Amino acid sequence: MSLKDFFIELSENQFLNNNAKKYGLKLGAQSVVAGTSIPEVIESIKELNALGISCTVDNLGEFVYDKAEATAAKEQILAVIDAIHESGVDAHISLKPSQLGLDIEYDFCFNNLKEIVALADTYDIFVNFDMENYDRLQPSFDLLKELSQDHDNIGTVIQAYFFRAEEDIEKFKNYRLRIVKGAYKEPSHVAYQTKEEINQNYIQLLEYHLLNGKFTSIATHDHNVINHIKQFIKDNNIPHNKYEFQMLYGFRRDMQVALAKEGYNFCTYVPFGQDWYGYFMRRLAERPQNMELIVKQVFNK
Ligand code: FAD
Repeated sequence: MSLKDFFIELSENQFLNNNAKKYGLKLGAQSVVAGTSIPEVIESIKELNALGISCTVDNLGEFVYDKAEATAAKEQILAVIDAIHESGVDAHISLKPSQLGLDIEYDFCFNNLKEIVALADTYDIFVNFDMENYDRLQPSFDLLKELSQDHDNIGTVIQAYFFRAEEDIEKFKNYRLRIVKGAYKEPSHVAYQTKEEINQNYIQLLEYHLLNGKFTSIATHDHNVINHIKQFIKDNNIPHNKYEFQMLYGFRRDMQVALAKEGYNFCTYVPFGQDWYGYFMRRLAERPQNMELIVKQVFNK
């Protein structure tokens, strides 16, 4: 088993996920998770805003199989939206449908999402539906389509490792889209497996949406992709208000600040909350060098 598969399996382990919630931020997670409470995350956002960086806030949590837990997550996200509005910070919301009941019942999840999207809409706050693994892809697109009949403050993610990504991006080009390589382990009948194939499709999708789409969030830490896309944007005179760069909180901070200083719109994905374990393990799967973060954290105590 590769190190990547090992960390992905750990990220999906229900027992470890549940136990991690009880013990606060551990294993160095505090360097990539902006606290466990709403006041803490608002403070982190203010610091990033002061550097000219906007934020998308993720109340950590996924794969919820209990209605009470999904309802509690919904309440927490509503409270985050109120806090963003009241504090006046430059931030929007990212959420995972599986935290809000996608695996329990479609209509239950729809109603939870509707409440969130409607409140955010009253404050003119954008809500991004993060994309999870393949089984949740089509129902998440269905939810997005149904909700967009009444609201236009929503968008989603296209994962470049999926064969169907090209078709999906065409269907959803009139939405604000975050384009990523893809973070889950997917089988070879639905997804590209090699870095080369994924990178190639990633660049193609980014270029397509930059030329034809509503708004593109270029979400990657890959400097080769970023340099290529900067040149593409220049060559094609893509206006600044049609795209932004995105990276995760705690990763390549110097590059985040540098891109914002160069005048690019930049948005940091800011996760917070008790349910940090699955998110953190996926970051280790993507790049085992992220273990450095753990080591630094341990020795800085
Ligand atoms: P990689 O392919 O991991 O790395 C490419 C190269 O970039 C590396 O070889 C290295 O040279 C350099 N590099 C990368 N990271 C670092 C670093 N920390 N320090 C130094 N060099 C580095 N996935 C989903 O499936 N669904 C989502 O909804 C989703 N949302 C996301 C939101 C944001 C804002 C971001 C940034 C990612 C999101 N992802 C999501 C994860 C994404 O799919 C990738 O798994 C993740 O971004 C890793 O790919 P990468 O393009 O950043 O770079």
